[in-house]
Amino acid sequence: MFNALIVDKDEESGQTSAAVRQISQEDLPQAEVTVAVEYSTVNYKDGLCIGPGGGLVRHYPHVPGIDFAGTVETSDDDRYKPGDKVVLTGWRVGEAHWGGYAQKARVKADWLVPLPEGLDTRQAMAVGTAGLTAMLSVMALEEHGLAPGHGPVLVTGAAGGVGSVATAILAGLGHEVAAVTGRPETAQYLEGLGAARIVARDELTEVTRKPLEAEQWAGCVDAVAGAMLGRVLKQMKYGTSVAAVGLAGGPAIEGALITPFILRGVNLLGIDSVMQPYENRLRAWRRIAADLPMNRLEEMVQPATLHDLPDLGRDILKGQVRGRVVVDVNA
Ligand code: NDP
Repeated sequence: MFNALIVDKDEESGQTSAAVRQISQEDLPQAEVTVAVEYSTVNYKDGLCIGPGGGLVRHYPHVPGIDFAGTVETSDDDRYKPGDKVVLTGWRVGEAHWGGYAQKARVKADWLVPLPEGLDTRQAMAVGTAGLTAMLSVMALEEHGLAPGHGPVLVTGAAGGVGSVATAILAGLGHEVAAVTGRPETAQYLEGLGAARIVARDELTEVTRKPLEAEQWAGCVDAVAGAMLGRVLKQMKYGTSVAAVGLAGGPAIEGALITPFILRGVNLLGIDSVMQPYENRLRAWRRIAADLPMNRLEEMVQPATLHDLPDLGRDILKGQVRGRVVVDVNA
């Protein structure tokens, strides 16, 4: 028997509840590789899955946890053998399939990647899905021409998970990072991650009628969308790109939208970490191991246990979590 955070739904009331319970190996879903999970994390989607599900959870009872790192225990697939260290992100694990909020997980071999050299399992989860998405965003901006020296790069939702890792990666690569936050008390933290400048959220959430504004940003990693993305698009320099990853500020983009694309050749790049094929995930993890300043990673981390998850799930949906929560499932 081992511990797992089980989310269940009362069919009559429709209410969900989450609690740490003991389950056994036979309870796990069928798949090729059993992993002894060491660490998982708390992402925005985990907040949704711990709560009412938001359409993400397919069946109850459910084990959330959209990412984890650990050691292979048994494998029916030649690519993995017992003792191998592995990382999992995406593929609807923790949503449609039981995830990382348990001391063991059983998953498809295709969904795993070997832990890249230079990272341990805890560091891998300090990065987690949010950090992988930040790296995929930086790589997409680079593929569209971004290089250090082009000008300030904006990161929105900067004190959150994606934003914190994006700030540290971009600063580590030599970019001048302007970090947007609605929490002025996180300014010192963001400067510690390498932000050159702090931009107050309010400065970018007012909707204006102007079709364009002064050109300011050489690139942007946007975790927020909503009114802010509408403003940011109008402030992008000619021919630059925005990597859009999330919608913490709402799903609609507001404002005079078409002008930045037509008159300034701005690119809006949608970034999805969930369905990334193996080669892309491995490439991004290797770049993380090489380019993310590890001394900054620790500053982002808030440690947690399985028992803390119901509260943390609520906090992340309110935008109240700073940086990355690393869940030690064996604590
Ligand atoms: P977090 O909650 O850690 O960070 C989101 C941040 O956005 C908050 O910390 C806050 O930052 C800011 N924010 C929150 N509410 C608002 C608001 N109403 N208006 C403006 N800013 C707001 O979440 P993550 O960083 O883990 O994820 C961010 C988004 O990215 C989510 O929508 C998530 O679902 C998505 N995502 C997408 C992935 C993909 O593959 N595309 C993968 C991972 C995440 P501050 O206080 O600094 O302003």
